[in-house]
Amino acid sequence: MVLGELGGSISRAIQQMSNATIIDEKVLNECLNEITRALLQSDVQFKLVRDMQTNIKKIVNLDDLAAGHNKRKIIQQAIFNELCKMLDPGKPSFTLKKGKTSVVMFVGLQGSGKTTTCTKYAYYHQKKGWKPALVCADTFRAGAFDQLKQNATKAKIPFYGSYTESDPVKIAVEGVERFKKESCDLIIVDTSGRHKQEAALFEEMRQVSEATKPDLVIFVMDSSIGQAAFDQAQAFKQSVAVGAVIVTKMDGHAKGGGALSAVAATKSPVIFIGTGEHMDEFEVFDVKPFVSRLLGMGDWSGFMDKIHEVVPMDQQPELLQKLSEGNFTLRIMYEQFQNILKMGPIGQVFSMLPGFSAELMPKGREKESQAKIKRYMTMMDSMTDEELDSSNPKLMNESRMMRIARGSGRQLREVQDMLEEYKRLAKIWSKMKGLKIPKKGDMSAL
Ligand code: GDP
Repeated sequence: MVLGELGGSISRAIQQMSNATIIDEKVLNECLNEITRALLQSDVQFKLVRDMQTNIKKIVNLDDLAAGHNKRKIIQQAIFNELCKMLDPGKPSFTLKKGKTSVVMFVGLQGSGKTTTCTKYAYYHQKKGWKPALVCADTFRAGAFDQLKQNATKAKIPFYGSYTESDPVKIAVEGVERFKKESCDLIIVDTSGRHKQEAALFEEMRQVSEATKPDLVIFVMDSSIGQAAFDQAQAFKQSVAVGAVIVTKMDGHAKGGGALSAVAATKSPVIFIGTGEHMDEFEVFDVKPFVSRLLGMGDWSGFMDKIHEVVPMDQQPELLQKLSEGNFTLRIMYEQFQNILKMGPIGQVFSMLPGFSAELMPKGREKESQAKIKRYMTMMDSMTDEELDSSNPKLMNESRMMRIARGSGRQLREVQDMLEEYKRLAKIWSKMKGLKIPKKGDMSAL
């Protein structure tokens, strides 16, 4: 079951339970059985699922719930907490610091997405102002260096490797030395993922690790192996000091939930997930926002993080205040469009809001989406201040819309589309109304 479907099944089960007039033991059991089925279909280990079910029943003692308490909310919160517990892998042992050189070594089996992930990781940090560099110490697989070189060139990240040298330790050491001299603050070493025997692979990893003394070893794993991830993660952990894990191919595989929970069970911190082949299909893994999104609860904490990241500091308090008052105006939409266009790859800010990105910013059509946003902004440029600041511009009459269309050189239909888009956005953003503005990572306001 692909993650989106898993989330859908779980939220449907909760919804069905919520529709029942009375929530008794039978209704709760039906809901939990549905959730269990969905998790097992995602290849989550039976024991984990059973424990989760038992814990929820322990927490949600229906008889004990005083009359007047919102049972649904309590049950939903218990499910949320248990899923978080199941997927929480803990925090990585080492935190990188911008401006201070760190060496990060990537390990994992061939085909897991290791080389792709090295570049994604470098690119992610580069966008945040780091100075990353890539070293290809995979001398085993023909073409590994070419692949890294291609990816690195595309992302304009310096790289080091050799077509002739066959000693991975030598290359790794040379690469790390060179980039230390060049004051790179994030030196990423990609190692081989295949050997004739597993023992030789682990031995090579140990040698590269000893020679380069990485601050952090990241284990890259393909999510399609499901709960088998437990054994694989354990095996790597026992051979090198794995400090963090990245789980790849979470975009299309049926066993993503199983893989994540299995890695969590080995207490190896998952820090990112890979969600596609492209460079920016890479997400920070943070368990609470992840589960929240999975359950369709809306990822408000992630959304807040994005607001902190994207909206200029001086605009933040005012924006948050307006949102918490439920006052989403066309001007706010305009300003957020401006911020998105400034930010670079669009779609990231809102992609975490349910139902948003798919319509305004379909994947793979970023250029068109960008053009559409610019068109919308031109139309808004022809509006009056009153219209931009009104909390009810959707009631605008047709002659006014015609004038805006003429003023901006667009069709009436396009102005109507833009206002439709506004309505849709206003509906989503109105969920912020009355909410205590959540602090980073805090879900209590949900
Ligand atoms: P390596 O052998 O471990 O270095 O693996 P590669 O980086 O060469 O990746 C193997 C394949 O997986 C390539 O076709 C990648 O494009 C693909 N891949 C890597 N990460 C992801 C991901 O998150 N999602 C998807 N769909 N494909 C991925």
